[in-house]
Amino acid sequence: MKVRIYPDPVLKKKALPVADIDQEILSVLEQMKNVMIQGDGIGLAAPQVGIDKRLIVINNEVIIKVMSDALDSDDIADKQEVFVYKMINPEITWRSEERSIGNEGCLSLPGSYCDVERASSVSVRFLDERGETQNITTTKLLAVCVQHEIDHLDGILFIDRISNLKRRLLLDKYKKQNNGLRQGVVKLL
Ligand SMILES: [Zn+2]
Repeated sequence: MKVRIYPDPVLKKKALPVADIDQEILSVLEQMKNVMIQGDGIGLAAPQVGIDKRLIVINNEVIIKVMSDALDSDDIADKQEVFVYKMINPEITWRSEERSIGNEGCLSLPGSYCDVERASSVSVRFLDERGETQNITTTKLLAVCVQHEIDHLDGILFIDRISNLKRRLLLDKYKKQNNGLRQGVVKLL
């Protein structure tokens, strides 16, 4: 399992819902979790590893750590501590009208970051590994992550949510880095 990087066409495809939560799906989720942790990501969606299914994983342990550094610890004290979310067929069922801007990066666009505006809070419904329906309401970084990962399932990248000018600047820079990488690979081969 390898992280696909932009402009891999799999990143632009709409992923298909999971019909059966079988051993294969559970194994894919576990492998995705490992890829996310190895890549220092806080979230990963199946299309990012070339799998055309509506699956995402989120490293909530890191999110809680980042948030507790930024906030009063009271703010998160009542949060249920799920360390890694594995979400099957996740769907956003509510978005707050309030919006926030946060700096985002993506394992599929290494080295690129940009401010992205999104709903400050969202509710998400998904199936867990046992096939049970879960509903959670998320805020702050977890809400950003949920929206970013579910976008991946619809073939949307964070660069699709910024202005044309910012996207052009970011991609110009990204392509230069990317060409450098490719040349590097050719030399090694
Ligand atoms: Zn991403």
